[in-house]
Amino acid sequence: MATAVRKCSTMVNEAIQPKCEGTFRPLSRRQVQALARNVTKVPFVELLGGRLQGVVSSGSDMDRVYVSWIEAGTHNYYCSTNNNRPCGGLRGSPCKHLDSLLQEAVLQYDLRQVATYLKLRGDPESYTAKTLGSGISGNEKKEPAGAVFSRFLAYLRLCELAAPAEVAAEDAWFV
Ligand SMILES: [Zn+2]
Repeated sequence: MATAVRKCSTMVNEAIQPKCEGTFRPLSRRQVQALARNVTKVPFVELLGGRLQGVVSSGSDMDRVYVSWIEAGTHNYYCSTNNNRPCGGLRGSPCKHLDSLLQEAVLQYDLRQVATYLKLRGDPESYTAKTLGSGISGNEKKEPAGAVFSRFLAYLRLCELAAPAEVAAEDAWFV
């Protein structure tokens, strides 16, 4: 697992570096922000099905990951290992993995989009990356980690595919 995550992180950096140096179409500000994501710490984050969800590496064990999610609207949340062992950091409030998930979601999507998607109270513009967690006021809601974790594994499989150096015919879809 740790090896796959490291490889994914390296691939992201190698793919992006030439683009940042202007040898390819310049990246937008949002894309550059996305590149600053700490993929080793939070290898997978997505807004899907009314949730912010993702996978967060353990700070102490490189082979352990946590599956974390926050539900839009209710702001209920949960965090467990991929083997469904509850996170010890959940003590009536979101753990550090959920906070890391929020921080990386801000880099991946941007602050306003995350705050709006999660339906945080008040003006989305009033939040900063550091205060975003204060808007999460739901309850712990235990659920199996399998659905999110299998999406992460599918994402890792995509990272294993060889990327062609030249423009692929399918790229025409994005022009
Ligand atoms: Zn946790």
